[in-house]
Amino acid sequence: MQIKLDTNIQFLKGVGPKMSVKLEKLGVETVRDLIFYFPRGYNDYTQITKIRDLVSMEYEARSMEGKTIRAKIVNIKNKRTSRRRFTITEAVVADETGSIKVVWFNQPYLEKMLKAGREIILNGKVRRSSYSSELQLESPNRAEKSKIVPVYPETLGISSYYISKLQKAVSSQLGDVREYIPDVILKNNQLLPIQEAIKQLHEPENSEKLEKARQRMAFDELFLFSLQKQLLKKDILIRSSPKIEIDEDFLKKFAKSLPFKLTGAQKKAAWSIIKDLNSDKPMNRLLNGDVGSGKTVVAAMAAALVVKSGLRVALMAPTEILTLQHYETLKRILPSFSISVGLVSGSKKELVDAEVVVGTHALISGKTIQKNLGLVIIDEQHRFGVQQREKLLQTKTSRRPHFLSMTATPIPRTMSLVVFADLDVSVIDEMPRNRKKTITKVIAGDSRRSAYNFIQKEIGKGHQAFVICPLIEEQERASGKLEIFEEDRKAVLHEYKKLNEEIFPDAKIAMLHGKMKSGEKEKVMADFRAKKFDILVSTSVVEVGVDIPEATIMMIENADRFGLAQLHQFRGRVGRSDLQSYCLLFSSSMSENARKRLGYMENIHSGFELAEKDLKLRGPGVLYGYKQSGFWDFQFANLSDKIMIEKATEAAKTIAYEIEKYPLILKKISDRSKHLE
Ligand code: ADP
Ligand code: MG
Repeated sequence: MQIKLDTNIQFLKGVGPKMSVKLEKLGVETVRDLIFYFPRGYNDYTQITKIRDLVSMEYEARSMEGKTIRAKIVNIKNKRTSRRRFTITEAVVADETGSIKVVWFNQPYLEKMLKAGREIILNGKVRRSSYSSELQLESPNRAEKSKIVPVYPETLGISSYYISKLQKAVSSQLGDVREYIPDVILKNNQLLPIQEAIKQLHEPENSEKLEKARQRMAFDELFLFSLQKQLLKKDILIRSSPKIEIDEDFLKKFAKSLPFKLTGAQKKAAWSIIKDLNSDKPMNRLLNGDVGSGKTVVAAMAAALVVKSGLRVALMAPTEILTLQHYETLKRILPSFSISVGLVSGSKKELVDAEVVVGTHALISGKTIQKNLGLVIIDEQHRFGVQQREKLLQTKTSRRPHFLSMTATPIPRTMSLVVFADLDVSVIDEMPRNRKKTITKVIAGDSRRSAYNFIQKEIGKGHQAFVICPLIEEQERASGKLEIFEEDRKAVLHEYKKLNEEIFPDAKIAMLHGKMKSGEKEKVMADFRAKKFDILVSTSVVEVGVDIPEATIMMIENADRFGLAQLHQFRGRVGRSDLQSYCLLFSSSMSENARKRLGYMENIHSGFELAEKDLKLRGPGVLYGYKQSGFWDFQFANLSDKIMIEKATEAAKTIAYEIEKYPLILKKISDRSKHLE
């Protein structure tokens, strides 16, 4: 049969029904999918290192990608290990500068295949043998020719080699792939045409061309993602919303009634929101501020203004406890302006037809809520789906409520340009002045005892402590790959037992982890808040945004395993009152890198600055919690590449404006979202 782009891969030679099921799990159903299934990395057999230099690089090499040598086999033979389960193939290879030992495990056929005298290219890492402390090249990859070899993800029993072969088999269909990005955009941004880019990704000619190909794909990812957001924004802007009058006297009275002065950043954010509300176009704004920066009061001010103009407000939060917290805060502020506050959660309902209703996702099913809504506020919006948001924004009339989203995850500016391209962003980057900095210390293993003594003292004063441990369960990553966490990670259960029985036998200790039901989790948090416990041992599930004023200690095990932004989030759980708080970072890995990263925590107290560092050091995946926004899917784009982000965003804007003219791009976007579902 004739192979086309839409042909199902089961009709390809070498793909049986069994393999096609596996490939389907990778999202590869058609020839087109296969062509767009790109390598995760490359083994570069073109940059040849001399053996002499390789040996002197030993220490440096440890943390780096493997190195490539071109050498002749001097001798090679198989050995059995004493336990007989293993075969080790040992060889000595040499080039004109020196020689080195090479070992492979459980590949006995190599002895016959690689005879003495033969020249081969090897790529691997140099290590010191644990037996003889000799330098050796361990399990290197082999190549016949000096070239760049793509490496596809090895998963579900599909080898990289197999995918490579399939790619070769469909390479003649590449000519059918149509360019979807307009010529001008390609030219302005010096991008490779799509066919050329794909060809280079699967079979790179050299590293320069490969880099160009990656650039093209990075641009595509940013462009399409951004465009999708722009289109959402465009859809919203054609709707109309109630124009809220600015009542300056009222706003003054409101600000005066607060027990503190608003910070400059709060004022600026509030003003942007008020201006948005004062338009018949829907507001679509994100309020982004560190934990404790005072977002709630800004939201309350907006809510009050909307109510004053005769409309209602809904505020939705992701958990019961956060909902109750908002409810209590608003009840302290709003009733003095004769604004009623109601509550809708799974377990409690009060005044459901109040002017401001706070609730969990139970709000969405509440029938009376949507009536006469002028403003919808969603806290930690990324914890909800887009559908949930839209449901809350749905009204019987043609008018759409204004929308304000809030998040405490500090998102660097460059990244927010892409990820939140559909929103206008207000940043609260200034903390209320009365706030004490949380003293942060990295604790080496031998100081553990004195750290525990310190915690004991704090508990003695009636203060509370968090102990965070990394998860000890399999966690499914967005890529579909399972990462089994290493054994040395502190298990919550184990740690709980140890603290409870040995370290703090007199303290009341509770435990929190992801395997608990959400009702149980919330009960533990509520009890901790009510001071029924002194110490809470938890995985990273501990709530963002929960206020426990008397918690003064945040202790984190294996701190180097977390991203800086996440560590900062944990740290934000303490220091929420005028008590001096402490963040103790335990780490057994004291690699240069871990030391440097944790050192930042000691000195930097701005979440935005830390997030920026994280983005550079570890990529966007560690800015946790944004899985749903889809950028975990970025394979090529670098979210700290400011210039490319700006270019792609700019290009997306011009296209969004007249999207009807670009059916191929629209198709690309809809394929993409189908894939994300
Ligand atoms: P978040 O941004 O994390 O939601 P909150 O709105 O919960 O922060 O505010 C944290 C605490 O700071 C609250 O107790 C609030 O009353 C207080 N607060 C807010 N703004 C100010 C300010 N300008 N000065 C002093 N305290 C403030
Ligand atoms: Mg908050």
